[in-house]
Amino acid sequence: MAGPVARLARLVVPVACPGCGEQDVRWCEACEAPWWEPPLRCESGAPRLDAVEPALPAWSIAELDGPTHGVIAAWKDQGRRDLGALLAPAMRRAAREVAAALDPAAASSPVAVVPCPARAAHTRRRGEDLPLLLARAAAAGLADAGVPAATVAALAPASGASRGSGDRGRWRAGPARTRGAAWRQPALRPVLLVDDVLTTGATLARAAAALAGSRLVPIGALVLASAPAPGKVLGVGEGP
Ligand SMILES: [Zn+2]
Repeated sequence: MAGPVARLARLVVPVACPGCGEQDVRWCEACEAPWWEPPLRCESGAPRLDAVEPALPAWSIAELDGPTHGVIAAWKDQGRRDLGALLAPAMRRAAREVAAALDPAAASSPVAVVPCPARAAHTRRRGEDLPLLLARAAAAGLADAGVPAATVAALAPASGASRGSGDRGRWRAGPARTRGAAWRQPALRPVLLVDDVLTTGATLARAAAALAGSRLVPIGALVLASAPAPGKVLGVGEGP
């Protein structure tokens, strides 16, 4: 973003790094660096994923801390849509790396990259469907790695009106419900779920539950950032 208009805009609305507050940069080098680290398995820090059967491996690009949380929060809730120019390429690169770790059986049919949906009101306010943007980036990353993939918006946020509708077997209680695309697939299709952050794992668990019985079968999840696993700070042990 350069040019006289951008410079003028900065005079009116100063820009600052959402990670650390450094002035006059969209984001600083230090706060960008975590987004280019190798994605790491993170499901051990998400207790609610324990209930998902079969187990859902999850990868995260960055640990959720002050700067990474600041970047995501600014992108989602503070009008910094320009941060998509950082986060979408980071997601694409991470998906490229995760592709090799996905179950090889998954490669037998194209992977459906399914975003955990944002609430409709949030998407309206943001002017953009950010989860879908992340999913498209992830699908591009899988394709980069030679794994055929396409975005499938198979989940919608549950609304009060849709819960308990007569569409038996389709709708499930909870903040995610399946769209027709989950059922219209010609065959069983592996799914990479995509979300922005992973904390307890409840969102991913509900997404997996909503897809249960459909033709979309979750085989993994990829998120931008995840809360550190309990005990990690101590640097000892690997789980309980
Ligand atoms: Zn910074």
